[in-house]
Parts: sequence; structure tokens; C-alpha cells
Amino acid sequence: MARKKTGKRAAPKKAAKKTAKRAPARARKLVYFFGGKMADGNGKQKALLGGKGANLAEMALIGLPVPAGMTITTEVCTHYFKNGCQWPRDLQTQIESNIAKIEKVMGKKFGDLKNPLLLSVRSGARESMPGMMDTILNLGINDQVVESLAGKTGNERFAWDSYRRFLQMYGDVVMGVQQTAQEHHDPFEHILEQAKNKAGAADDTDLSVDDLRDIVKKFKALIKNRAGRDFPQDPMVQLQGAVDAVFSSWENDRAKVYRQKYGIPAEWGTAVNVQAMVFGNTGRKSGTGVAFTRDPASGKNVFYGEYLVDAQGEDVVAGVRTPKPVARMAKDLPSSHKQLLKIRAILEKHFRDVQDIEFTIEDGNLWMLQTRIGKRTGFAAVNIAIDMVNERLISRKEAISRIPAEDLSHLLAPIFDAAGEKKARKIASGLPAGPGAACGQIYFTADAAVAAAAKGKNVILTRQETSPEDLRGMIAAEGILTTRGGASSHAALVARQMGKICVCGAHDLTVDYKKKTLSGNGVVLKEGDFLSLNGFVGNIYAGELKTAPSQVIQGLLENSAAAKRSATYKKFTELMKWADQYRKLGVRTNSDSPKQVKNAIAFGAEGIGLTRTEHMFFEGNRIDAVRQMILAEDDAGRTRALKKLLPYQKKDFIGIFEALQGRPATIRLLDPPLHEFIGTMTPAQIKKLAGKLKVTSAFIQRRISDLHEENPMLGHRGCRLGIVHPEITRMQATAILEAAAEVQRKGIQVLPEIMVPLVSYAKELELQKAVIDETAVKVREKYGLRANQLKYQVGTMIEIPRAALTADQVAEHAQFFSFGTNDLTQTCLGLSRDDSSSFLPAYREAEVINNNPFSQLDQIGVGQLVEIGVKKGRSKKKNLKVGICGEHGGDPESVKFCHRTGLNYVSCSPFRIPIAKLAAAQAALEEKG
Ligand code: ADP
Ligand code: MG
Ligand code: MG
Repeated sequence: MARKKTGKRAAPKKAAKKTAKRAPARARKLVYFFGGKMADGNGKQKALLGGKGANLAEMALIGLPVPAGMTITTEVCTHYFKNGCQWPRDLQTQIESNIAKIEKVMGKKFGDLKNPLLLSVRSGARESMPGMMDTILNLGINDQVVESLAGKTGNERFAWDSYRRFLQMYGDVVMGVQQTAQEHHDPFEHILEQAKNKAGAADDTDLSVDDLRDIVKKFKALIKNRAGRDFPQDPMVQLQGAVDAVFSSWENDRAKVYRQKYGIPAEWGTAVNVQAMVFGNTGRKSGTGVAFTRDPASGKNVFYGEYLVDAQGEDVVAGVRTPKPVARMAKDLPSSHKQLLKIRAILEKHFRDVQDIEFTIEDGNLWMLQTRIGKRTGFAAVNIAIDMVNERLISRKEAISRIPAEDLSHLLAPIFDAAGEKKARKIASGLPAGPGAACGQIYFTADAAVAAAAKGKNVILTRQETSPEDLRGMIAAEGILTTRGGASSHAALVARQMGKICVCGAHDLTVDYKKKTLSGNGVVLKEGDFLSLNGFVGNIYAGELKTAPSQVIQGLLENSAAAKRSATYKKFTELMKWADQYRKLGVRTNSDSPKQVKNAIAFGAEGIGLTRTEHMFFEGNRIDAVRQMILAEDDAGRTRALKKLLPYQKKDFIGIFEALQGRPATIRLLDPPLHEFIGTMTPAQIKKLAGKLKVTSAFIQRRISDLHEENPMLGHRGCRLGIVHPEITRMQATAILEAAAEVQRKGIQVLPEIMVPLVSYAKELELQKAVIDETAVKVREKYGLRANQLKYQVGTMIEIPRAALTADQVAEHAQFFSFGTNDLTQTCLGLSRDDSSSFLPAYREAEVINNNPFSQLDQIGVGQLVEIGVKKGRSKKKNLKVGICGEHGGDPESVKFCHRTGLNYVSCSPFRIPIAKLAAAQAALEEKG
């Protein structure tokens, strides 16, 4: 470590000279300046400058007050990790020349004893990762600088407060002085706490200069003792260490967990922002705060934030002191408040979206330290987008593009049953930080929460406040409750982003970590007790509350008039109207029963993309007939069983066709992996079945072992069954077509699309189609229909790579294709759908994959098979209808891929339809640019 540092310190100077001589103008730009109403970069360069750096540049460009600074690009971070943590050779020189620029704008000098410039060193990835990486403030102070700072400002308290803050951050982040496993407190906080107790100070602001001097001494000793070396006095060495630490924080545990959760690639790296410090801790005319230009939980158009007087940045978020709501600034700091409201309007107009801002006031001067697009809940996303259209701030197209499609699932999530909530025992209330209804058992640590969730419990993570270390616990929890912290606390921020139900700052309640209790207002709850949170309004109830479907679902599926009057329902339906206007992809549903089909149509399905006929076989007595068919030893036995099944199937199809009211239905022929039907039978079940079928248990046992397959997923299933036993296909085609003929007779249009599964060879489809066509002739005869009076199509599911690769041959016999991407993923990756869950988590952990390929289509791999299939299929039949019916049909990214690949429709489960529609509209808009 030490060698690396000295090596680096010596090297850059030499390198700088050399490069200067060789190619002065050609040096790659590693560092971008901003400040004084100008900037090298701008808001569009988020990939290069990170989100924070790009927006600091943009704010400088539009004339907002931003302390001058520089952004070291993300490319430098990538270079750093690729080269054994070494800096590129020009970096030191470029940093030095940019420091000179900062010095000029700010009128101070780095390391100077007369008028010292202090710096903040801040991370900033392409997408913001709140609290995941580290920030160091007040860099550049040392034993002499602190004295000159005190002299220059005439504010000794401020100078020493800044020094102790710097040591604390630098010691932790750069020199690794952190809480050990044996300690209950952060060692710096512990020293601070002791000093406060000794001085009888309630707040850090109550500490005297002498107290602070003493704390600084103790901090330095602590660092020396723990890190084995002195904290560096040389400001440039401090800076080098801080830049390295920010780079390294990209690879810390917290950041990695976050990246996995949000699928952020490791290669992106983080930028480093080095910025002149402005000070919120110089007294009562100073302060610091964070705000959203609108309420990010509900989406209401109100300025929403909080601030602290006489404090520095992290104090607000860390919950050390309780911040005040931003409206109070009108009293405490009136002119800054006015200026801030103006900036609120400028920012919304310029960025045309809700902004999440950080600001500091130094002696009455307001400085902007950050702006970014405000993360919001699904509810807020919909509300804000629609409000902004009405305010003519954005267009409908933009509104659509902005709402993460997945967020619509929040609007469909259950709420509390109104009658039940009235009767429930409310124990306290807090800030509504994450809307929704959560009910579960309370656990007080992230570890306990994770363990309980792993056992299948619903968990309410209950903490005084949360920190980034709690992330795993927050992911595992249904809901989050904190007793401290405000609207911008870590808990609120993260919950909002993850779409978790959250109530924070419930000050009437107390968490006792040692006793593992939550108490207040006369109630004491222990670990494992039930608690319910209403995240819409912030109410907290003891016990378990009953939930009810969301207002959207009550409106759509239950036709409830009250729900239809709710704002949520109205905005949801408005949004769906817009999505329908722009999307080009059709959206169908995967549904197996008339009831599901009705629901899907209420959600806006335009037909069925997949009915799995064997799913109907589990109902009632039918399973016996199915098992009889599978177990049959000969054609005669099989035909007898099939005869029993025919009326069941026909009845189901009649129900489905009626529910569809003229919409198309893709019906897949039987595809039973045998083990699902007979592999799991218990001896008692076998005995019972033997009685019903009038055979012996021994016979059934023998047939089960005859039929046993080592690898049923690759076994005798799909069309392979119909090839060997055409009578199975015949029975199903009969059921479908007779049902069609009968429903048609009632004046309802019927459009059956019969889909042959698991085709590898074109010939398989050809043979199965022949069976279906022959059956159709017979059905027409029976019902006295001419050829054009009973229409149907025959197509295939593309789910085996060979079928995709030979799609031109397959298309000769197909009127449509539907990509069965569940099996296509399984067969393309050679990855078992049933067994992969045991090792896929490790794959995500190791960042081999960012997403489960069974949930999000592997576009690079499996996607190629889809592309080839579409291209080759349409090379034979120009207008071949192509859809997708795997789970991926409801995943936004996969839906967009389907649009780009030219599919006609996607098909997904009923509750995913709104999400698929929105994603489809977004894809269409992305295409136009
Ligand atoms: P995060 O990404 O975790 O929000 P930041 O880099 O924004 O971290 O830093 C956290 C806080 O530190 C900021 O909100 C701000 O209050 C304070 N801070 C950062 N840079 C400066 C600066 N140049 N002057 C004063 N305070 C700063
Ligand atoms: Mg910040
Ligand atoms: Mg399949």
C-alpha cells in the first residue's frame, strides 16, 4: 500500500514533464472543469462525467450558483481498475491545472496559509447510487491550515469543527478506521459522544473550540493507532488518497449489492468530483439542506425538503440532528428561501422533470451542490407525469417515456381493507415515505430480516434509522419502519426507489435494539410480533390487517364505482389510453381459464397468446383421465381415456371463446412433461387411481417406471407425443374446432390458432398439421360447414434452437410463430428451468449475469435465435404473424426487444398487461427518437 502511494506520487510529476514535451495538445482529456457560469462538459455527458458531474456542469452553464470544481471522468476509473489501481500518466497534471482554475474562480488557494481553499471529493456514477459510495468534505486542512482558516474567518469554532469533520471522514474512508466487529459504535462517533457528555453538550453545535481542539487531537491519535501511520498533512497527498478511495468505493460491498439489484454493469465505473467547499457550518446564517421540487412519495406539486442551520451536508441525511421542513426556511433564512424557490422553478423548467437537489448556504449565500432527476414511487411517477402534461411542461409522449413500466405494478398492489383499517389499533404515525399497505412481523436488524424472509415470513424491518449497511434487510422486507429521520432520510430514499412500503420518523415509538422491542403509546411489541403499515398516510397499526385489491383492480375487475372515482384509477386509465395510442405491438394474455381471460380483457388484452391446455387437466376428476391416458399401454386404452377428456376440453374452449368475444386465441396442443403428472404420485394416490381405473397398483407402478425419464424436460413431450400418438392431437383438434363451431353458431366470432409445441424439424409440424387439417374436415362435415365457414390457423411455438435456425423450412407449414422463450432460454443456455435457481444467485453475485435469464430475455444470446427465427420465417412468408409467449412477454426490457425485432405481439399474464402496454408504447417512441 505504502509503496503504491509513494510510487504514484513521484511518478506523475515526471510523467507530466515528458508528456508536455512530446505531445502537449494531444493529451487525452481526463478532467472536466465547471464553475463561474461556464463548464467544459454538460448535462448530457452522464456516461463520461457521471450524473453528479454532468449536472453540476449543466447548472453552471445555466448560471446557477455552483462552487467551482472538476470532474475526473469515469474512463479514468475504468483505467484505474484495469491497471492495478494506477492513475493514467496525465492525471496528476490535469488535476493540478484544474485546481489552478478553481483557485482563480474562488479566489482562494489550495494548501495556502493566507487564504486556504478546501475541497470536497465526491463520487458520482452514471446512475445515482445514493449513499453507496463515499464523500470526503473539507479536504486540504492540516495543523497549519486550520489556524489560518480560523484567523481568516474570525471563526475558530468553524475552523476546528471542519477539521474534526475532515479527520472523521478521511480516517474512515481513506485510512480504513472503522467500527470493528467488537465495537458497538463508530470509534469517531464514540470520541465525539464522550466529548459531548463531558461538556454537557446536547448537540455538536454546543461544543466549544477547546472541546473541538481536543477532539481533533484524539481523532489524530485514533487514526495513527488504528492505521499505523499518521494522517497526511500534505493537501496534495490528501487529495490523491481521497481520489483513490472514491474509485475504490465503486468496488465496496454496498455498491456491489446495489449494482446487482439494479443491474448496473461493473464496467461503468464512477467519476470523481473535486469541488471547492462552501460552508454551511459557519453559524446561524448558514445551513444545508436537501429538497425535491415535488413530493416524491405522492407526486403532489409541493416543494418538499428539509434543512439544518449551522451544519454540513451529511448531517441532514445521517439523521444526527432532526432537520426542519423546508417551508420553515422562510422564517430562519428568508432571502435564501426566496432564492431557492426561484431556483426550484428554473430547474423544473430547464430539466422538465422533478429535481432532487442539495444546497448549502454560507453566510446568507446560497450554493447549489447537486441536482438530479428525483427518484419517485410508482404512484408519484404516474401523478407527476400526468400533472406535467396538464401543466404543459411535457408532452404525452414524454410522460409515457418517463414512467418506468415496472412501476405500474405498485398501482396494482393491494391496499388495506377500509373497514378493517377503521377497526384496527393504531399505535402511532410517521411520515408516509413509501405508499402501499404492508403487513408482517417485525425484525430489528438487517440480518434478522433476511433470515426471517428466507423462512418465508413477511418482514417489517424496524429500525431507529437505516444506513446503507441495512440494504440487504430492506430488500428482504415487505415494509420498513423507522422511528427517526425525515423525508430525505436513507430509509425514505431507498424505500421510494425500491418501491417498498415505508413509514419513517415515527417519533412516538422507541426501538430498543438490546431488548428487541418496539414501544410507545402504551404498546410494547417484541421481535416477531405483527405490525401493519399504511404507507399512503403514515399510519402504524399493531397486529395483522386485512388487505383489499388496489383501486385500479377494484375499478377494472370488480367494476366498483367508488374505486373508479379515485385519482389513482383515473390517472391509470388515462395513461393506458395514451399508451394504446402510441404502441405498435399487440398485447395478448397467457390465460388458461374463462375467468382469467375475462380479467385479462378488463386489463386490455387483445386476445390470447397462449393457453396451456394441460393446465386445465389438474381440475377435479380430470386428472384421473389424463393419468389414464398417459399410463395406457396401447392405442385402444389411450383412445378410451381420450374419449373421456374430449368433453372436458371442449367445454373449456367454449368458455374461453365466449369470454374472448371475437378476439383471437392461440391454443397450444398438449405439452405435459410426464413427471409433472405421474412422477409425483404417492402410494395412496396410486391405490386410489387403481381402484378407479380397475387395474392393479402394481400395474400402475410398472407403467410409471416404464415411462420414467432421466431428463423429462428433454424427453417425450410436446409434439413428440403427437407424432407417436396422433390420436392425442386428433382429440384436441376436435375439441377446439367443435367448440369453435358451436360458439360461432351463437353469433360470436371465433379465431382459433392451433399451436404445435416443441418443434425441432419442419417435418414434425407438417405431420401434425396434416392431423389437424383432417380433423377439421370431419368437424365441418359434422356441423355442415363449408371450408370458409370454420376458420383456423396452424402455427408453431419456436422453443428449440433448431426450429429458430431452420425457421424458413418450418415457416412453410406455419401460419404463425410464437416464441416460447422459457424453453428457448432453457435449451439455448442448456440451463434447466427447474434446477437453475440453486446456482443463479451465485452467478448474479459474481456478476456473470445481471438478470435472471428466465425473467429478462437474454437479448445477446437467446435474442439472436429470436432474430434469426423472425428473419428466416419471414423470408418464406413475408407477413408471417410472430409473437412471444414466454414469461418475458411481461418484462419491459424484453417487450422493447420484441418491438425492435418486429414481432406482432407479446403475450403475458393478465396482471402484467398494463406494464407490457406501457413498455410497448415506450419502445415505439424510442424508435422514433
Ligand atoms: P451523495 O452522492 O451521497 O449525495 P455527495 O457527494 O452529494 O454525496 O455529498 C454529500 C453532501 O456533502 C452533499 O449533500 C453536500 O451537502 C456536502 N457537500 C459535497 N460537496 C460539497 C461542497 N463543495 N461544499 C459543501 N458541501 C458539500
Ligand atoms: Mg448528494
Ligand atoms: Mg415450452
